[in-house]
Amino acid sequence: MTRGEVFLLLSVPCFAEVIWYRQPSVAKLRSSPGIWHVRKGDAVATIFTKIIDREIPADIVYEDDHALAFRDINPQAPVHVLIIPKQEIASLNEITAENQAVMAHLFSVVRQVAAQLELTGGYRTVINCGADGGQTVDHIHIHLLGGRELSWPPG
Ligand code: 5GP
Repeated sequence: MTRGEVFLLLSVPCFAEVIWYRQPSVAKLRSSPGIWHVRKGDAVATIFTKIIDREIPADIVYEDDHALAFRDINPQAPVHVLIIPKQEIASLNEITAENQAVMAHLFSVVRQVAAQLELTGGYRTVINCGADGGQTVDHIHIHLLGGRELSWPPG
């Protein structure tokens, strides 16, 4: 065996170990959704996945097997609730014939939450899509806004 072959034999496991050591854990990747995007199923895990998994707290107002509704951390109206599917769907652009029932369910949750929170005078729903639409969390969500008269058009 030549000296070069001996060097290769000894150094490859070392490099492999360094590369393995430098891999961040999946938990760490998922805790930094703005920097790292980890695929779970079809979509990207975001801060909303952590709320679903109870890894971070949220003021949850409704939950069933397929959806969760919680108050927005930065409310734009007296009532500002986000309604999300438990399935990770990044945005409206990922709604297909296969998963469109999710949207029907989310809107039925909107109606239930609006009744539960006594938005008897009416309310507004908003779905931001993509950067120009103002979407900041890549997990589809319906904003439910109410509790005051809302102006139009939005900014
Ligand atoms: P988007 O801008 O994507 O349409 O809406 C994302 C919404 O999520 C924003 O209104 C923002 O205030 C809200 N949000 C972001 N992070 C959190 C969080 O950790 N907890 C809660 N409750 N709302 C959040």
